[in-house]
Amino acid sequence: MEHANDSALRQRAAQVIPNGMYGHMAIGPRMPAGYPQFFSRAEGARLWDVDGREYIDYVCSYGPMIVGYGNSRVNARASAQRKAMDIGNGPAETIVELAERLVGMVAHADWAVFSKNGNDATTTCIMAARAYAGKSKVLVANGAYHGSQPWANRRAPGAPVGEHDAFPTYDYNDSTSLEQAAQACGGDLAGIMVSAFRHDAGYHQELTDPQFAATVRRLCDQYDAALILDDVRAGFRLSLDASWSLLGIRPDLSAWGKALANGEALAATLGSERYREAMASVFVTGSYWYQAAPMAAALETLDILTEEDAPTRLEALGERLRRGIDEIAELHQQRLRQSGPPQMPTIMFEDDPKAERGSAFCSALIERGVYFHPWHNMFLSLAHTEADIDRTLEAVDAAMKAL
Ligand code: PMP
Repeated sequence: MEHANDSALRQRAAQVIPNGMYGHMAIGPRMPAGYPQFFSRAEGARLWDVDGREYIDYVCSYGPMIVGYGNSRVNARASAQRKAMDIGNGPAETIVELAERLVGMVAHADWAVFSKNGNDATTTCIMAARAYAGKSKVLVANGAYHGSQPWANRRAPGAPVGEHDAFPTYDYNDSTSLEQAAQACGGDLAGIMVSAFRHDAGYHQELTDPQFAATVRRLCDQYDAALILDDVRAGFRLSLDASWSLLGIRPDLSAWGKALANGEALAATLGSERYREAMASVFVTGSYWYQAAPMAAALETLDILTEEDAPTRLEALGERLRRGIDEIAELHQQRLRQSGPPQMPTIMFEDDPKAERGSAFCSALIERGVYFHPWHNMFLSLAHTEADIDRTLEAVDAAMKAL
């Protein structure tokens, strides 16, 4: 059997893990035929599945991998810290160093609080916003993802009844709907949460309209509510400052995770001076929130991202991929739509609401050693090379021929 190891592991998993796998990494219900569930090795921009097949990876663990799997500099710094001390009865010096570093890099930030997952960071933002304002409601965009904790998880059962009453919705990039939602809070608006851009899974991506961004800032000022930027997914790929700095808008609070430590478990909440006291009043913590090794990994990752001017490099790589794919699609008369910033491309077919064509395309690519996603934004990394892109384009050409 060609995928014997993967099949055997899936059978074992089905006995002891609900559904055989959960969440965004559950291949069965989510991904096209031919995708492996289990992997055994990762290096640079390459992944190997448990049956030894090699892939050029354009999902990058859904974002965390940004300077390459197993990057030797990040590994060395994290290992040295791990050897000295990772957790203790208090944090190591790295927590101060990393907070200083982020406050220096991110213009709106005057302080940092660290945690583990992106959802910890978005939740911490909400607590700081409410503590500051003494109000309870936080507006979130319809369909936006901010994590799987009950407040953020509207799609699945498991949240208490009423959990989402404190999170009324607006339509992203629609100033009128935002103004109406803000007004409907009747004086109880503590914050407005936004994403770097509209990167909802299953849709063509939409960059943030600068007019909309200006409206968000104006409404936050008008209602004395926090502008909360969820930069968990896009952070450090579009800018080494907060992503909305590209629009000239400063958030009050921002949430970071994923790429921050190149795959070591680390997230951060950053905030402006005005929210410092409120943050100080909130009790937030976790057994692993002070771990020093991931912070050392983050310091090295940020060094590399800065030295290599990551956003510019990733944009150039992404544009090479986008241009190449557009040319090949035209040649094969395939109606593709590529959306989002080049550093985080979404590649879907026009008139393909169930992603059937997209799935066939991705299955044909997986057979050819390229790991694309049929309906989620993908990610470029500094480990990708021009040669990887060119090899990918050859596979894209072959896959389109096979469609
Ligand atoms: N916000 C955004 C925009 C995300 O993309 C994610 C993760 N996909 C999260 C929050 C939650 O992050 P985590 O999975 O690390 O909790």
